[in-house]
Amino acid sequence: MEPVAHKELQYLKGVGPRRAAALAQSGIQTVYDLAFFLPRAYIDRTTTTTLRALALTLQKQEHLFQQPFPLAEERLLLNEVTLLIRVESLREHTYGNNRQMLIATISDDSRASGAIIFWNRLDYYRRFLQVGQLYILAGRPTLDRRGVVTFHHPELEPVDPDDEELYRIGRIVPKYRLTQAMRQAGLTQSRLRALTATALQQLLPTLEDPLPEEVRHAHDLLPLTEALQQLHFPTSTEQLQRARHRMKFEEMFLFQLLLALRRRDVRQEKGLRFNPRSAHARWLLQRLPFELTRAQKRVLWEIAADLSSGHPMNRLLQGDVGSGKTIVALLTMLVAVDNGYQAILMAPTEILAEQHYHTLRRLLEGSELNVVQLVGGQNTRFRQEVLEQIATGKAHIIVGTHALFESPIAYCHAGLIVIDEQHRFGVLQRARLRELSRASLGTDGVVPHVLVMSATPIPRTLSMTLYGDLDVSILDELPPGRKPVLTKVVFESQLPQVYEFLRSQLRAGRQAYIVYPLIEPSEKLQLKAATEHFEQLQQQIFPEFRCGLLHGQLFWYEKEEVMRAFARGEYHILVATTVIEVGIDVPNATVMLIHNAERFGLAQLHQLRGRVGRGSEQSYCFLATCDHFRYHWYRAEEEPRERLAAIVRLRTLEQTNDGFRIAEVDLRLRGPGDILGTRQSGMPEFRYTDLATDGPIITRARQAAFELVRQDPSLCRTEHARLRRALMQRYSDVAHWLDVA
Ligand code: ADP
Ligand code: MG
Repeated sequence: MEPVAHKELQYLKGVGPRRAAALAQSGIQTVYDLAFFLPRAYIDRTTTTTLRALALTLQKQEHLFQQPFPLAEERLLLNEVTLLIRVESLREHTYGNNRQMLIATISDDSRASGAIIFWNRLDYYRRFLQVGQLYILAGRPTLDRRGVVTFHHPELEPVDPDDEELYRIGRIVPKYRLTQAMRQAGLTQSRLRALTATALQQLLPTLEDPLPEEVRHAHDLLPLTEALQQLHFPTSTEQLQRARHRMKFEEMFLFQLLLALRRRDVRQEKGLRFNPRSAHARWLLQRLPFELTRAQKRVLWEIAADLSSGHPMNRLLQGDVGSGKTIVALLTMLVAVDNGYQAILMAPTEILAEQHYHTLRRLLEGSELNVVQLVGGQNTRFRQEVLEQIATGKAHIIVGTHALFESPIAYCHAGLIVIDEQHRFGVLQRARLRELSRASLGTDGVVPHVLVMSATPIPRTLSMTLYGDLDVSILDELPPGRKPVLTKVVFESQLPQVYEFLRSQLRAGRQAYIVYPLIEPSEKLQLKAATEHFEQLQQQIFPEFRCGLLHGQLFWYEKEEVMRAFARGEYHILVATTVIEVGIDVPNATVMLIHNAERFGLAQLHQLRGRVGRGSEQSYCFLATCDHFRYHWYRAEEEPRERLAAIVRLRTLEQTNDGFRIAEVDLRLRGPGDILGTRQSGMPEFRYTDLATDGPIITRARQAAFELVRQDPSLCRTEHARLRRALMQRYSDVAHWLDVA
């Protein structure tokens, strides 16, 4: 890069060693760093409101923000307004039982006045608030009885005196994140702005734009220099939007290039060329009591094309709970087997592995195919025997857990790996299984086919980024005859009716789940609470029915025993304090009651609910929550964030059974990092892009990136040289895919 960019800040006019040190503490060392130290917020003086305007609006009883019920968290902020105010006076008032409140009278340019009320942390606010000082206020306005615009505990930020001018003129003003150290070194908002202006002046003429001209034109993107200038000193909100858009696009474009290169590389690997016609698959299809859904057929076509391409398959199969992934996996495995290869199916837990094992054996009954199981805790002799069947190739299909790769197992031509519930495995674990399988295929570098399956639907924006180097197939259709689970939020005082409903279902021969979240601090207390819940249910509420208990202190094989007994119908009700295993299939269970449902996450509730509605009977899910929620329920919009999120979760479940829609809402509520644990998933943290809301940009950037790699697979054209440099700078491991030393 050009020398200006690397220039150390202390040599920039107006900085000096002390300020340079303060900036360096935040990682800002060079002119380049400073230019990319972007404002954390903007105060839009062109559109901020005034006290007078607010009073008029509120008096007209208009709803300030006529948004529909907010599903997206960011909408929550819309109820807030931003104002530039001056504190005119402070007074205290005693109320109730000798309690104090602090009232600030405020004014603004519109020469109207208003009030701020503080109910707590008065000591702090007495010190913080200065009469005569200007503040940026952000908060939710109300009108008091006398018609005065009032804020309760708004956010307040003092305006530096040397900034006042800027705030007065109608402009968009950037706010930087100043640290304590920066302030102590004399850096104010306005000084920083001035420094940034100098830095930009020096840097911009030498800055190169990584985006190729043709991409910029095709997507109407600002050049990098203009975008940077706008990000610091926007001339209008539109330009600011365009600048942000450009940064997001670039960020996603580079990341998608990385994925495209990676995928191109996988495509070039040597794979096994399978003949997709499988006698066993045909045999199985004839025996199945049902037709495949259209979605299942489509996905099988996609898989068949991969298997016969000569390149290794790398496919993610997404499908909601109950969409029939198992049968797709089995048919795929049969193709491998009929081509003379072993197939491996890996599940995250013993219970799931066991269930798959039994399902596969049942489906393959009457064929000569041999399915074996490899899990932890098998006794040595038995395990030895299984290992031998695997090594000699007598085992055709191998089902298991982590045990499949935890010791070096000798597979015999393992040509296909299927991974169920892949989100529960880390990248490394998948890689290890792949290595073992690869080793079994000989030394000439052939790579096995991999199919990963996910029962937790992921919004498209996420699968495009997180699994962007995989091909994605989606089972977006449930087998016919499935009735959506009827879901209802109930309050605790309605529980007797719910119990009565449960009884009627049980009498009709159905089974039920009752789930409690356990919130006790210690395991001992948890066990006690669990047992108490259980005994109360069994003895007082359902004395005429048999209840089984599943709690966290059971060993896995004890849990399994309880589950099995429930599946055999020995219990009418399964009381669970631990979350019931994902993937457990008891079609006769038609009712689920979840206590304190507000404590569960959205994905978790959806998965739990997926345990019912698996047969042909209508199923029901009750989400029970405390009575005081009923009050909040109806005034949802004014609730604090946490509670509102809980309400949104429950309402979403009432409204839809569609896992993809639920996943979208979840993404908006929690953000991608929380959902996926970005660090573990290997996805970089994005600086500009919000995966929850920037879907369209991601899609466009992805298309552009993949198209570019198609045309210039190693990015060696001269017009892509800058792009190549930027890519290597941002993702150091990309060199490998660019074939450079
Ligand atoms: P998941 O995608 O959650 O793993 P499963 O593979 O366990 O779903 O399938 C759920 C149930 O649906 C199983 O009992 C399975 O036999 C049944 N099933 C799968 N495909 C069909 C179909 N096309 N028609 C009817 N039932 C099906
Ligand atoms: Mg499954």
